[in-house]
Amino acid sequence: MSDRNFSKETLERWDDEYVWHPFTPHSVYRDEQPLTVVAGDGHYLIDADGRRYLDAVGSIWCNLFGHRRREIDDAVREQLDHIAHSTLLGNTNDRPVLLAKRLLEWAPDNLGKVFYSDNGSTSVEIAMKMALQFWQQHDGGSQRQRTTFMGLANAYSGDTIGAVSIGGIDLFHARFGPMLFEAVRGPSPVTYHRLDDLTRKQAEEKFVAHFDEVLEKHADELAALVIEPGMQGAGGMVTYPDGFLAHAAQKVRDAGALLIVDEVAMGMGRSGRMFACQREGVDPDFLCVAKGLTGGYVPVAATLTTNRIYEAFLGPPEEGRTFFHGHTYTGNALGCAAALATLDIFEKEDVLPEVRRKEQVLAAHLESLWDHPNVGDIRQYGLAAGVELVAHRDTRETFDSTRRVGMKVCSAARDKGVFLRPLGDVIVLMPPLSITDDELKTLVEAIRYGIETVLDT
Ligand code: PMP
Repeated sequence: MSDRNFSKETLERWDDEYVWHPFTPHSVYRDEQPLTVVAGDGHYLIDADGRRYLDAVGSIWCNLFGHRRREIDDAVREQLDHIAHSTLLGNTNDRPVLLAKRLLEWAPDNLGKVFYSDNGSTSVEIAMKMALQFWQQHDGGSQRQRTTFMGLANAYSGDTIGAVSIGGIDLFHARFGPMLFEAVRGPSPVTYHRLDDLTRKQAEEKFVAHFDEVLEKHADELAALVIEPGMQGAGGMVTYPDGFLAHAAQKVRDAGALLIVDEVAMGMGRSGRMFACQREGVDPDFLCVAKGLTGGYVPVAATLTTNRIYEAFLGPPEEGRTFFHGHTYTGNALGCAAALATLDIFEKEDVLPEVRRKEQVLAAHLESLWDHPNVGDIRQYGLAAGVELVAHRDTRETFDSTRRVGMKVCSAARDKGVFLRPLGDVIVLMPPLSITDDELKTLVEAIRYGIETVLDT
């Protein structure tokens, strides 16, 4: 057994000395009192001091049913008695076979094939590569000019080159310009930070009209649109106008292009349906799922697609129609066992109606935050929400980013035993789907406490 008797101080020292953290400015990292997690228990993280924190961002949006959830633990342990991993390159394994069948039972009916990888970024990257190759091979390549991808401003689909190329968050993406390919960028659905002379409704209409214009302009060259359904997550928990996904899907269809829905954040029950596109009755050509697929246990991702797409890749090997993409851990058996146990929980516990009920409970608690003058906007979609803090509600003026208000509010919320991680000055709520009503209340109260502590003194 590995040694677990290290003090918090030792772990912190070694962390500072040896570990480079993702999306983390290291010059302020230690001052912002990061957690050193050594264990989990249900909805709680336990740090090296033995303190417990409600995991209100589900360990970056992937934990669905708590830590050390017995059914998932047992499935992984049981799988270890069989095999941890074997390759899917030209071979198969019983766990990914069973998982593909089960996932397709939950997915929109038009989807018929599952291609595995190991994180959200690759699940999107794969959909994009498949779309590009599809247009080269479909119908004798009659539409091989479809090589352009469209994403939206403020979008985020991960950190690999294709995902970054269609991403739209300048802070994360602009720097990598020289290594990106050119993509078409549609407008941002952010309507909170709109021009003063527009109402929100007008800003929404302007967004939709601009989207249509860009898409129509590029219709003939468009391979696919990549879109986060429900909410743009990393862009600050930004919702779309009602019915926008269905509208966008129809526009893509009219253009003769393909639709890639990035369900990495909003899929796996977060919307109150298994997949967010199902909430708007949309049948995508590609559906990308990761994060919660294994209940937040093991990195497994999947790109679901249609038989029409798959069939364009068939032919004698020497014709080279094969999809030459695959990762060492594609379809990892331990991860697929965790994912199967996760789907079992969805089936046995009637999770989705409960998520829809808790969506209302959360909405009611969030409503109370409007009392605070620095709460500028509250956006919610299913069991996901963002509370945007601003310097002045009237003018929607933001805080100077050097104040790191969002981070400070989250740090203060720790006093109330709640772990949060913001996106700038947007306080993000992405709790486990199994969070209780009482815990939802605690969570929102901790946010209120954090806001008051940082901004009222
Ligand atoms: N797509 C969306 C919508 C995401 O929110 C994320 C991660 N936050 C990704 C893709 C990338 O997933 P991963 O971090 O697993 O590569």
